[in-house]
Amino acid sequence: MKNLLPAMFLAPALSLQVMATENKDFNYHVDNFADIEVLRYEVPEFNTLTLQQKKMLYYLSQAAQAGRDIIWDQNGKYNLQIRRLLEDIYTGYTGDKDSEEFKAFEKYLKQVWFGNGIHHHYSTDKFTPEFSQAFLENCIEQIPDSRLPLLEGQTRRQLLDTLLPVIFDPTVMAKRVNQDGTTDVVATSANNLYGDGVTQIEVEEYYNKLKNPADESPVSYGLNAKVVKEDGKIVEQHYHLNGLYGPAIAKIIYWLDMAKSVAENDAQRAYITKLIDYYITGDLRLFDEYSILWVEDTDSDIDFVNGFIESYGDPLGMTGSWESYVNFKNKEASARTEAISSNAQWFEDHSPVNPTFRKPNVKGVSAKVITAAILAGDAYPSTAIGINLPNTNWIRAAHGSKSVTLENITEAYAMASKGNGFNEEFVIDQPTIDLMDKWLYTTDMLHTDLHECLGHASGRLMPGVDQDALKENGSTLEEARADLFALYYLADPKLQEIGVLADPEAYKAEYYKYMLNGLMTQLNRIEPGKDIEEAHMRNRQLIAQWVLEHGKKDKVVELVKKNGKTYVKINDYKKMRELLGQLLAEIQRIKSEGDYKAGNELVQKYAVKVDPKLHKEVLDRYAKLDIPPYRGFVNPVYVLTTDDNGEITDVTLDYTETYPEQMLRLSRDFTTLGY
Ligand code: ZN
Repeated sequence: MKNLLPAMFLAPALSLQVMATENKDFNYHVDNFADIEVLRYEVPEFNTLTLQQKKMLYYLSQAAQAGRDIIWDQNGKYNLQIRRLLEDIYTGYTGDKDSEEFKAFEKYLKQVWFGNGIHHHYSTDKFTPEFSQAFLENCIEQIPDSRLPLLEGQTRRQLLDTLLPVIFDPTVMAKRVNQDGTTDVVATSANNLYGDGVTQIEVEEYYNKLKNPADESPVSYGLNAKVVKEDGKIVEQHYHLNGLYGPAIAKIIYWLDMAKSVAENDAQRAYITKLIDYYITGDLRLFDEYSILWVEDTDSDIDFVNGFIESYGDPLGMTGSWESYVNFKNKEASARTEAISSNAQWFEDHSPVNPTFRKPNVKGVSAKVITAAILAGDAYPSTAIGINLPNTNWIRAAHGSKSVTLENITEAYAMASKGNGFNEEFVIDQPTIDLMDKWLYTTDMLHTDLHECLGHASGRLMPGVDQDALKENGSTLEEARADLFALYYLADPKLQEIGVLADPEAYKAEYYKYMLNGLMTQLNRIEPGKDIEEAHMRNRQLIAQWVLEHGKKDKVVELVKKNGKTYVKINDYKKMRELLGQLLAEIQRIKSEGDYKAGNELVQKYAVKVDPKLHKEVLDRYAKLDIPPYRGFVNPVYVLTTDDNGEITDVTLDYTETYPEQMLRLSRDFTTLGY
């Protein structure tokens, strides 16, 4: 599971003084095109690592980049051919690079790079080229046959007849992941996880036969397989060394083996060995064994994910998209999550919840803060800011999970948003802007920690209450519970006592942002005329609207008008905290007793409906700010220093590569699957 950008980072303000940046002049902005902004992240503290650790990060970064072609091919079967063709045109172009056609071509290529294929990474809609087919055909004319990405036996004409409609015809391969359940989602999705002619029903029947409902530790069926039809029969083609994607997997294994040679300890060596065995065989039981070894290693500083992990790219949610994250522990920031987790029982015992509904023995979820060192595959260029793995439910229940926050990524988002005009447009006055500038970065991080480590883990169900009793409102109310727990404690002196928040007034920055977001600015993600559907967004509006209404008679929070614009005004932060405590108590009661009716009333009354006038105002005010809706990252370049014998004597990071330079380098150095 991954946390994408939370609403708070639509346009964060931040505290400069808490930034761990080593270089104040670090340039976060790299490129801008279509609806995308490409940023750069810094890897603070890299220089403090030992040579052995630096080597390990280098080898893991190679293992990460070696898998690049896999995600391109998973995303669509013509992606690698198209990439090669477009890059050849781009690097060999001798015409006027200022012409409209070439500029449109360059924009398209940048989009394709960002999507790891011809579809948008988020909407999964196919990109629309703004250059003409004649322009592209003319460019292809200049390329000799020997440089064309021809399949065996394919002629130039056949290549064009195949690829031109894929690029230009909006009805061909229109959507990468089609989730519209009224159609056959397998047949209508343009990804390459299922072969030609395979239907949804055939896939479901195939896996239903494999599954044994009595198995308490089932493997993740389909995780590393493409399902195809051979002679009219459904079969799986597995991803492994001698199977599908073998040449890429061979390179990954090579670099994992190198990383193993400089591993930090036996536990780490053991899980790398198991991961390699899994890559060699494709045996999903080995993947589960690896996952258990991995989740139980909490001592190593360096950590990584490399494999077929998240299944958002499969409309049936089975096949894992290839990805890699390489990181190391941010010790200073992790001390924060450890301080919180080790006081979990104190927080539980002092919550405003009815004691009957509290947990007598609470165990905080282990969470750490990490510094990302390389992002790859499905996690690049667009990436998550938090990850919680493994995904397998029985492993999570028996062995736990690792929850991580990618602090340097979060920081890059925040730094890049500085001065984007959001606060000036939406925040009521200068003192509040100053408060948010000073504290919001810190309180946002703390809010996430409290939410993840304590909020979700708190409270208990009464005997006999079904954990699914709240039905379709379950996730909204669960997120509300975790948010309320976090918000309530952000204002508690306990945080000063355990040393995670210096100023007892800092929480006000988070309270203001939460109300502003829940009442107004998150509406920017909703299309005009639509209700709120997503659980996190419902939860935020539920809390904000409930507090607004219940604080009305004491004027705790108000919506006021200034120069014709609406603003959130908080008059009494202390009373606001009391209200948050009351709502937490009520939502915990609803959860503990499985009171579907009361939960549904709360959701329907506060969380779903949107005031169309205010909605329009928010959209209009946002539009003027020109904040790019999507952002992603280039990686630092790992530079080796070697002695006369070729031994590595140092590894340094270079932050100067441009976005096209990085993409072309990856194609040059890490093309593993043909072309
Ligand atoms: Zn949550």
